[in-house]
Amino acid sequence: MSKVDSKIPAGSLAEKWTQYRSSVPLVNPANKRSIEIIVVGSGLAGASAASTLAELGYKVKCFCFQDSPRRAHSIAAQGGINAAKNYQNDGDSVYRLFYDTVKGGDYRSREANVYRLAEVSANIIDQCVAQGVPLAREYGGLLSNRSFGGTQVQRTFYAAGQTGQQLLLGAYSSLERQIGLGNVEMCARHEMLEVVLIDGKARGIIARDLISGKLERHFGHAVLICSGGYGNVFYLSTNAMGSNATAAWKAHKKGAYFGNPCFTQIHPTCIPVSGDHQSKLTLMSESLRNDGRIWVPKQKDDKRKAFDIPEEERDYYLERRYPAFGNLVPRDVASRAAKERCDAGFGVGTSKMAVYLDFAAAIERYGKQQILKLGIDNASAEEIRKHGMDVVKEKYGNLFDMYKQITGEDPYQLPMRIYPAVHYTMGGLWVDYNLMTTVPGMYALGEANFSDHGANRLGASALMQGLADGYFIIPYTIGSYLSNEIRTKAIPTNHPAFEEAEKNVQATIDRLFAIKGTHSVDHFHKKLGKIMWDKCGMARNEKGLKEAIEEIRALREEFWKDVRVTGTPNELNPELEKAGRVSDFLELGELMCMDALQRKESCGGHFREEYQTEDGEAKRDDDGFSFVAAWEYKGQGSFELHKEELNFDVVHPSQRSYK
Ligand SMILES: Cc1cc2nc3c(=O)[nH]c(=O)nc-3n(C[C@H](O)[C@H](O)[C@H](O)COP(=O)(O)OP(=O)(O)OC[C@H]3O[C@@H](n4cnc5c(N)ncnc54)[C@H](O)[C@@H]3O)c2cc1C
Repeated sequence: MSKVDSKIPAGSLAEKWTQYRSSVPLVNPANKRSIEIIVVGSGLAGASAASTLAELGYKVKCFCFQDSPRRAHSIAAQGGINAAKNYQNDGDSVYRLFYDTVKGGDYRSREANVYRLAEVSANIIDQCVAQGVPLAREYGGLLSNRSFGGTQVQRTFYAAGQTGQQLLLGAYSSLERQIGLGNVEMCARHEMLEVVLIDGKARGIIARDLISGKLERHFGHAVLICSGGYGNVFYLSTNAMGSNATAAWKAHKKGAYFGNPCFTQIHPTCIPVSGDHQSKLTLMSESLRNDGRIWVPKQKDDKRKAFDIPEEERDYYLERRYPAFGNLVPRDVASRAAKERCDAGFGVGTSKMAVYLDFAAAIERYGKQQILKLGIDNASAEEIRKHGMDVVKEKYGNLFDMYKQITGEDPYQLPMRIYPAVHYTMGGLWVDYNLMTTVPGMYALGEANFSDHGANRLGASALMQGLADGYFIIPYTIGSYLSNEIRTKAIPTNHPAFEEAEKNVQATIDRLFAIKGTHSVDHFHKKLGKIMWDKCGMARNEKGLKEAIEEIRALREEFWKDVRVTGTPNELNPELEKAGRVSDFLELGELMCMDALQRKESCGGHFREEYQTEDGEAKRDDDGFSFVAAWEYKGQGSFELHKEELNFDVVHPSQRSYK
């Protein structure tokens, strides 16, 4: 085991980024024109990076597996994006956003990165507004804010329940502009299946044209992996069904360390699982916890309808346990509290694995405000409700509609039923302060890297991080590497390293078709997901993790003997795409369990049952585990652990409390 160097610049925390930007080597405009950069991914991280680098003058090729960059999973993001603008004058600052994020991540993130993220957060809002992103505004025209979990200020900017969509359209517009100018070559419907290394540096990729099935070689002086998160290793998650780990995993197998793979975020407010037929879960945005109150009946196995249960017989358990933050505790805390109530027999709905998210109080509160505003005297209860519902509709209407369409219940009349589900992966490719992986010239941005969220991401911080990485960080940090590459001529793709990489990809495809087994890819994916959820999900323990490792190994073996991939390789073949992705999940899942096993503490989303306080909160071991686990691939099923020690010079770790 060795230590990894995060290359954090010297200087005081508040000065590091400013000093770095003023002293980082630059590439002059003429040289930029002969430098080629590959960007894998066109979500918020990829699109913002590709367009900004192209704007700077680099030659960019951008890849995505969807038919348009506009369909990246980022489009699904609902609730909002944080920024330390302090528009509400409620005490926010760069320091407070930094502090909340480090604390929210349960002191398992890198201070320097988080501070930089908080610093550039304000620029993101300016950038997006300049692009025309229609962020919500107050009546008077000023940008509006709401609260997200783990904070006591209102710093979340939003566009109804479609913030990701609007931000992505902004990034996409700037990307399209660069495509139009000929500075970006967009390769949609292409899946990266291998990284090409030459003399130890990332020099290109092998991608499959998903329409024709043809394998292609692409050269780049640098490769940026912006391929999103790997929550779908659990099969059921709130992620888009296509989200996968393949690009990051191939990079890992080529030498990029994988950071904190076991840190997974389980989101507390999702529509509960309704049966075996489901292939995905739906998020109900955290923004709903601004106004929705979470409760279960005080009586076990209460069969009454929600509205028949009187106020005094309801347990608003988050407000009871965490009076300071109430319903806006961070996601890991809220998820565990929901599980605890359901496991103890207080759950609701037919499965009893759900809790209520109730808007009745908010509807009444807003209704009364509106009646006053409109000067209506002697309003009836019905009138008050109607006006209250209008306000709630304006804020969350699309989320309410979505809930109704999926469950058939009207959340304006009945409380929503919700339960935690897999949502986000804090782990990812390990990167240093420059966002470079352990492979020179290979970078990772957005959810694909492990960088800023520690053991638990605060809501509305992923969009902030993806856009910070793409618009404001990589354009500077990549210069420190590329300034040494200006003499490197584009390497022809008949170089033996490209040939070899393509041969390996072809061999894997041939192997998958040759199996001709009896079970579909989904069969294996579901089985893997169940192992992961049961044994490496919301709660983990040594026995379960050891079993999971054995079970995943056996499942992987079975997969390679018995999977059936239908169709042919030379056509659009979603079964082949899935097979490749699931084969990678079958390796990554094992590493996640190994990582969870070695981390003998509980922190953030990583809850080891053996390590908890008397009242069931996560119990960290700062002496033993204040490090980032950076895993090196050593061959199938074999990984070496390296450590990046975390130093907290400014925020001193303490028991996280939201009480
Ligand atoms: C339902 C939902 C709601 C959310 N709401 C919020 C929110 O309100 N606020 C917030 O901050 N965060 C939210 N998040 C999290 C946030 O949306 C994501 O973390 C973020 O959008 C990820 O952006 P990205 O650019 O890193 O990846 P993605 O948007 O996932 O993009 C990945 C890109 O990589 C491409 N790609 C992947 N693999 C390959 C490959 N092998 N070859 C070629 N291309 C590849 C894809 O085609 C895609 O273009 C939400 C997440 C979910 C699931």
